[in-house]
Amino acid sequence: MGTLDGKTALIFGVSNDHSIGWGISQALHREGAKLGFSYQAINEKRARPLAERLGATFIEQCDVGSDDDIAAIMQRAGDHFGQIDILVHAVAFANREDLMGRFVDTSRAGFAMALDVSCYSLVALTQAALPYLREDSSVLTLTYYGSEKVAPNYNVMGVAKAALESTVRYLANDLGPQGIRVNAISAGPIRTLSASAIRGFRDYQKSFAGIAPLRRNVTIDDVGNTAAFLCGNGARGITGEVVYVDSGYNIMGMVTPEE
Ligand code: NAP
Repeated sequence: MGTLDGKTALIFGVSNDHSIGWGISQALHREGAKLGFSYQAINEKRARPLAERLGATFIEQCDVGSDDDIAAIMQRAGDHFGQIDILVHAVAFANREDLMGRFVDTSRAGFAMALDVSCYSLVALTQAALPYLREDSSVLTLTYYGSEKVAPNYNVMGVAKAALESTVRYLANDLGPQGIRVNAISAGPIRTLSASAIRGFRDYQKSFAGIAPLRRNVTIDDVGNTAAFLCGNGARGITGEVVYVDSGYNIMGMVTPEE
């Protein structure tokens, strides 16, 4: 018996089998959840076969920058599933030129784009899902430590993640009385399509594994397993939190070079 038997999950942000959203999908599926997927138009060819591998029949296009797309997909998800127990937001975007060089050079348009797609979309999706979210349901998003401390080239995405983490707390406060929980996982650096847009990402991973107490990078399975826990009844008392799946990296202060 799985810990998510009988639950339905709607997942945004699976592009390929390296996506963190894919690690989460596999873990939710393993624990018995029935899954529905959303993809951006350009990636249907890669996303659809993955979704079908986990038995999904609800696979729909949605650009989270479009209120019309969001309203349409939530309506269809409601018709398909009746109610939703788990909403996974594994989506982020910033222009490539804003993920290199100096943060001070970020344009107004680049800033607005990053904050809209990477942060406001969580509000928009949650808002539109509300009529279908069951009591005891769970909303989950993904963040990164670059929200708290400066990470080279992460730039505007760090600012978007700071806003996203704050958004998690405000949503948790609003929706707690309805029994809806809202949390974020702060994952260590994982090589994905989005991550490859950050200049110097290979170096991030290398220095991360040298500093983190567990001395290794995390995997999409590590994140997926924590996601399954957070979305299940075992985490009924947890909301508004940022949970670190980062080999302990975030606890470190001063680091001395290894012998
Ligand atoms: P990924 O596989 O590239 O996933 C990012 C997803 O965002 C893609 O599925 C992408 O769809 C989707 N997306 C972007 N703009 C969208 C839009 N306007 N509408 C709908 N979907 C859109 O990369 P990932 O690393 O797994 O990212 C998932 C989440 O984890 C992100 O929030 C990311 O910031 C976070 N995170 C990643 C790391 C890491 O090191 N990889 C660490 C901590 C947190 P398309 O491919 O179709 O554009």
